[in-house]
Formats: sequence, C-alpha cells, structure tokens
Amino acid sequence: MNQQPGAKRRVIDRARAEADAARLSGMNLIGGHLVQGGEHGLFDVFHPADGRRIAQMPKSGTAEVLAAVAAARSAFGTWSRVPARERGRLLAIAADRIEAELEAISELQTLETGHAIATQSRGDVATAIDMIRMFAGVSGELKGTTVPDAANVLHFTTCEPLGVIAAILPWNGPLFSFSSKIAPALVAGNTIVVKTAETAPLAVLRCAEIIQKLLPEGAINILAGQGRHVGEPLCTHPDVAKVTFTGSVPVGRTIMGYVADKLIPVTLELGGKNPNIVMEDADLSIAAPGVVAGMRFARQGQSCIAGARIILHEAIYDEVIEHAVVAMNAMKVGDPFDEATDIGAIISARQIESVRGFIRSVGAYPQARILCGGADFSQPGLENGHFLRPTLIDGVPEDADICTQEIFGPVAVAMKVRSFEEAIRLANNSDYGLAATLWTRNIGRAMQFVSQIEAGFVQVNQYAGPKANVNYGGWKSSGIGKEYTLEAMRNHFTRSKTALINHAI
Ligand code: NAD
Repeated sequence: MNQQPGAKRRVIDRARAEADAARLSGMNLIGGHLVQGGEHGLFDVFHPADGRRIAQMPKSGTAEVLAAVAAARSAFGTWSRVPARERGRLLAIAADRIEAELEAISELQTLETGHAIATQSRGDVATAIDMIRMFAGVSGELKGTTVPDAANVLHFTTCEPLGVIAAILPWNGPLFSFSSKIAPALVAGNTIVVKTAETAPLAVLRCAEIIQKLLPEGAINILAGQGRHVGEPLCTHPDVAKVTFTGSVPVGRTIMGYVADKLIPVTLELGGKNPNIVMEDADLSIAAPGVVAGMRFARQGQSCIAGARIILHEAIYDEVIEHAVVAMNAMKVGDPFDEATDIGAIISARQIESVRGFIRSVGAYPQARILCGGADFSQPGLENGHFLRPTLIDGVPEDADICTQEIFGPVAVAMKVRSFEEAIRLANNSDYGLAATLWTRNIGRAMQFVSQIEAGFVQVNQYAGPKANVNYGGWKSSGIGKEYTLEAMRNHFTRSKTALINHAI
C-alpha cells in the first residue's frame, strides 16, 4: 500500500544494519566512550521478523549505574556553563549528523524492532531529528523574568538546569522517546543517563554515539539492561535530580516509588486505550481512513496513542466497518526490510502471545465477530518471525478485557453507539486518558468533545501522531507531565530561582 503505482520495488540489503549491531554488541556508552558492560552478564537481542540473534547486550548493574552517573555529574560542571545558545548550536549539528545517517539508523531500528522501514522506521528517525532541532532552536528561550517590586529591589527569576537526568525508554518508538528526553534535557544544560529498552537498545546507542562526539565526555550516557537491575540504583541515586520515563503503568508506579524518598520530579508517559469516535455527520472520506490510520497498524498497533476503541454512531457503523475491513485486508504484512511492506513484525514471542490471548478471549462472547485478521501470518524465510494480520473485532461488551486493557498489538475493537452522549460516556469509561479523537462536521459538538473528554492529547477530524512543538502527555493512569515543547522543557527540565536584590546600599 505504501508503494506508488509503478514504483520500483526494492528490497533493502540489511547487512549494514547487522554490521552496526555487531559493532555495538556488548556495549554501554559511559564517560564519552563505548565500553564493554554486563555486571549481570549479557542478554540476546533478536530480529523480530526472523528470530535471529543480532546482538548480545550488557545486563548492566549498580556498578555501571554508579559509573554513568559519576560521568554525567562530572560533565554537568562543564556542560551547564556552556551558554544556552551554544548548547543549542551543538545539538543542531548533532541533528544534522544523525540526518546524514538516516538510512543506516532506520535500518538498525528496523533490525531490532521489526518496524517496517518504509512506513515506520524512516519516519521515526525523521521525527526524532525534528525533535532535536526544535529544542536546539529554542535554546535562547531559557529565560527568567523580572518582576516589579520596591524601587530599591531588583526582583528576578532564573531558569537553571536540574543536574543529572535519568531517562528510561520503551521499545516501541525508541528513537522518538530518546530524542524527546535527551534534547530538552541537554539543551537546558543538564546531563543524562539513559536506560534503553531490552529489545531495542541499538539505534539509540548509535545516535547517542553521534551526539556524544559534540559534547563534554559523559554528558550523555547509555546503559543497556533490565529494569530491575538498572532502574532502582539509577532512580534512587542521590545525584539523579529527575526521572523521565516512558513505558507501562505498573513500571511507572514502581518508579514513583523509587523517587518518593528523594522528592525529585518525575515525568511519566504511560499507556493508553484510546477512543476514536465517528459521529453520523462526519466526513467519511477522511474519517473512515482515519479510523484505520489511528490504529497505527504500521507500528503493529504497538503505539501508546493507537485508537484501539473505535466508537461508531449506528447510522454510519456498517459503512465505516466495511471501509476498514477492505483497507486492513489490503495491508501488506511481512519483511520489514521490504519497501512494499506496510506492517512489520511484533517485537517478541512474549508480546505476540499476549496479543493472541486477547484475540482468543473474545471466544467467551457469543456476539463477538472477528471482522478481519485474527490470525498469524508467515512467509518463507520468516517462519520464526512474529506476525499477525491487522485485526478488527466487534460484538464484545464494553467491560471485556479486550475493550479496557491496552493490547499493544494490531487489534482494534469497534463499538456501536446511538448518540454523542453515549459516545462520550463510553470514551471516558477507562482508567487511561492519553489520546482521543472525534470525527464530526458539527463545530459545537467538537468543542463539547474537547471540554468533556478525559484525555491529554485530543484531536478532531484528524488522528496525527505526537511531534515536536505539540504539548503531549496523558491524564489519569496515562501519566504525569508533558513533553515535546518549550514549556515542557522549562517546566520539567529546569528549576527556577527567585532573587531579590536590595541595591540601596
Ligand atoms: P515497560 O514499562 O515494560 O518498560 C519500559 C522501560 O522500563 C524498559 O526500559 C524497561 O526495562 C524499564 N523497566 C522495567 N522495569 C523497571 C523497573 N523496575 N525500574 C526501572 N525501569 C524498569 O514498557 P514497554 O513494554 O517497554 O513499553 C510499552 C508501554 O509503554 C506501553 O504501555 C505503552 O503505552 C507505553 N508507551 C507510552 C508512550 C507515551 O508517550 N505515553 C510512548 C511509548 C510507549
């Protein structure tokens, strides 16, 4: 589907990505250098499309956390004194250098995540570059204020870095999460220790290697490893001044627990079970494709903002379902390195088994229909990969697990409503509050939706992904704090100081 008619079909040679993975295998980035790691040994990283091992990464532990934080602490003294606009200039150069390697980094991300290179990986890398450029460009906005006071008092505030930041990343959009944390942290004058996700450590390490060359040694440090080995010593370390985490709700709660004693700020970007509502007056020429695009099938549905609860007015239900089924059946699942592939592989055997479990669970409901998908996919050479056809299900009660829990796979549930009020009630009947979309031509209804929906990232007549300069973050169990904007950098990666200077002496 992503291929232009008549365009030449190209299968990418993935040898370069494999060579990069082999070079980075076993490495952490600490104090400006790639260093062999693995206090607790090594773990395997696989290509999700064929199950082949591509690297063995360090199971880092407390000693490696201590070394990385010490390096970051030492670099903070230098980096925080570099003028803000100079920090921005260096990050802008880093973005250029990453862009010069966009294709190689996209291939590396495809190798570790199984995301299709054409529909997902290249776009992910481009969005990450844009994020770094955006923050680099606003470096001069790290300003304080002056406040009227007594005639002899100069009353002002400053905007200062926090110190060493800890960032913990998920696997589904590793470079995007990475860029949205390291760019504001570094531009604001902080230094950073990043823990990569177990299944996707490589493209992040490659980008950090590029960035580090421009910064004082130790300004950016990357640790591979498992949550339990790295998370606690990193978050509880006395020199870590803030934690920014993207991942699941249970781990988000654990991280809040780690930092409770230290009383340091945390930003949590957590899961979602997002409603995508189409009303009877919607322009179906955009809404029907929007329902499919909103599911983020090109990322195998492994997206926090996936519109996995499709809420349709009864008057347009059949038409939208029909469109969605045709579009989903036309999507090409397969080799993520093939330019013609729309949907690549699910990240791991564990994840695909969890998704299959949700699909199986609808067997308990007599009215449930699997409208398309629901089955594995395989092709010669990829028998050990984790592929599922995009799946649409209806006829399931709203309190079923498949309607309430985040599946994080290519599975959407459609639900029928008779009114706008019923759609809003259903949409808000969730512990999550990340993203929500409404399709309507009625501007009054659109405004009502914005005011009544309990979610942090809300759209009408479009289903766009998060990007630089758009304030983003969840409500309810979907998280705490915002990312991706100047305000987010100021609010979450700096602290202000209030000064009152009596100059009548
Ligand atoms: P996860 O919570 O299992 O893991 C995320 C990271 O936390 C990994 O690096 C993991 O090693 C680490 N971790 C695990 N246990 C830890 C511990 N005790 N201490 C410290 N770190 C620990 O999540 P995941 O499976 O990698 O990612 C999927 C989840 O992330 C989904 O819920 C998805 O919605 C969410 N997500 C949210 C956003 C957003 O912007 N809101 C974006 C992407 C993903």
